[in-house]
Amino acid sequence: MESLKSKKLFAEAKKVIPGGVNSPVRACLSVGCDPLFIERAEGSYIYDADGQKYLDFVNSWGPMIMGHAHPDIIKAIQDAAVYGTSYGAPTSSEVDLASMVVEAVPSIEKVRFVSSGTEATMSAVRLARGYTGKNVIVKFDGCYHGHADSFLVKAGSGVLTLGIPGSPGVPEDIVKNTISIPYNSVEALETTLRDADLNIACVIVEPVAGNMGCVPPAPGFLQKLREITAEEGIVLIFDEVITGFRLSYGGAQQYYGVTPDLTCLGKIIGGGLPVGAYGGKADIMNSVAPDGPVYQAGTLSGNPLAMAAGKAALKLLQQDGFYEDLNQKSAAYADGLLEVAGRVGLPMQLNRVGSVMTSFFTATPVTDFETAMKADTGLYGRHYRQMLDSGIYLAPSQFECSFMSSTHSDADLKRALLETEKSFSLLK
Ligand code: PLP
Repeated sequence: MESLKSKKLFAEAKKVIPGGVNSPVRACLSVGCDPLFIERAEGSYIYDADGQKYLDFVNSWGPMIMGHAHPDIIKAIQDAAVYGTSYGAPTSSEVDLASMVVEAVPSIEKVRFVSSGTEATMSAVRLARGYTGKNVIVKFDGCYHGHADSFLVKAGSGVLTLGIPGSPGVPEDIVKNTISIPYNSVEALETTLRDADLNIACVIVEPVAGNMGCVPPAPGFLQKLREITAEEGIVLIFDEVITGFRLSYGGAQQYYGVTPDLTCLGKIIGGGLPVGAYGGKADIMNSVAPDGPVYQAGTLSGNPLAMAAGKAALKLLQQDGFYEDLNQKSAAYADGLLEVAGRVGLPMQLNRVGSVMTSFFTATPVTDFETAMKADTGLYGRHYRQMLDSGIYLAPSQFECSFMSSTHSDADLKRALLETEKSFSLLK
């Protein structure tokens, strides 16, 4: 579907915003079309500037697990806004949401709120360095932890989509302290993490990689990572910005039964408003200022509207059977996609954990960055444009995930499968 108003807005945006967008992948460069400008959203649908309707599998890149504009969340934000939008002083809402997070997430005894996922990961790494007195961090090829300097080494998400290996502006002196190793390789864990001369402060990992497309951890990988880091005195950080409150109420650590030392959260805990958080063992968190010497602060941290939205979101997720229903629906949809690909004879790998999935256009299994790179991005771009024409909004990059919400109805998913079959047939 062409959106004439979006085209006009994009031309205007490019004059005043770099690339016309406030986050690079939104520019849709890798799928060869202009972005839609969105006017409103409700349930499983978003509406462009011309009022055209699309079934949404992006869900704001994950936060909208209960669909767009959920009445409870909107009401919580409206109710809070009447009392003022920011005080820069403590509120009871922060204590409420912190208590909910501590109760939900196995590794978290204390939690600090920030305003984005990047702030959460950046702060968690500083804390791990301050706590251990060491500088080196280990990450995994193709994982993305936000845009802080230390993470822009073989990173996923927009860095990968745009083919940028790192980023100008990130000093060599900083990235020399970042080691990036292959995801899902126990051998790489053994050789790197056992090397005491490397002075490793922490390992940061997406427990399910979501920024080279969805790549689940191989059986035993997270367990091995936990075992070695514990033995070597290395702080293990789970970046659960995507998986937190997504795979289960306790996140990936509950889903896989592996408990890290620190956890980073974002997306869902803000109910669609800007929130991030990092938390973990009290022993480590007590090093954060003002209790300890590791500095981290924020004018809008714990913002009252964001806390209200987060509380409303988490309450919705506590409903009996929420995750069972969502994960079952997602499994059925993923099976449907595989069936369609099989019928049409299109080589495709479907990676899924819970309600997060990616269809990779490649004949070989995708288990890490190298195998993800084999996917045919040109074919994905054609599929993206065909689906958009039939009113279905997918992530504008092969290396991102589809996110399901509780508002995706059976009828929505049936239609999505029909349109997928038509699109796949045209790709052959
Ligand atoms: N960590 C992961 C796993 C992410 O997927 C993202 C963003 O997509 C981030 C960190 C950064 O979060 P934000 O974009 O809120 O800064």
